[in-house]
Amino acid sequence: MKSRYVFVFPTEAINKPLTYHLVKDFDLKVNIFNAYINSGEEGNLALEIEGSPGQIQAGLEFAKSLGVECSTLDKRVKLEHDRCINCGACVAVCYSDALKMDANTMELNFDKDKCTVCELCTTACPLQLFKINFVE
Ligand code: SF4
Ligand code: SF4
Repeated sequence: MKSRYVFVFPTEAINKPLTYHLVKDFDLKVNIFNAYINSGEEGNLALEIEGSPGQIQAGLEFAKSLGVECSTLDKRVKLEHDRCINCGACVAVCYSDALKMDANTMELNFDKDKCTVCELCTTACPLQLFKINFVE
């Protein structure tokens, strides 16, 4: 299985080789698609992890033991879909194809499993219907 997460590193964990251990010790495939890390501050990493449910759970427990806060990416991504007017402005900026117009209904489809928390849609939407909290 594949799942997307946001990891928040406290200052003391920023220099620890977490992704190395996830790959080597827990046999996980890790794909980092967004990062915000400043020396001396909290760091944020958005990543996709692939492995069995047991491997992923063990890897997350290891990350938490280092003080890293782990949450599923969908908790950081919100869209007020019921207010959407299907104008398509957000689709034009979403390079990951998470946002697409349905060719039959001409309504917006949002596939959160493709979202990279780039936040471009937050300013593209004229109604400000997105709340993307990658860096809180
Ligand atoms: S944050 Fe918005 S624009 Fe960026 S990938 Fe996710 S849905 Fe697309
Ligand atoms: S930009 Fe806003 S209103 Fe337009 S389709 Fe996207 S979410 Fe809907």
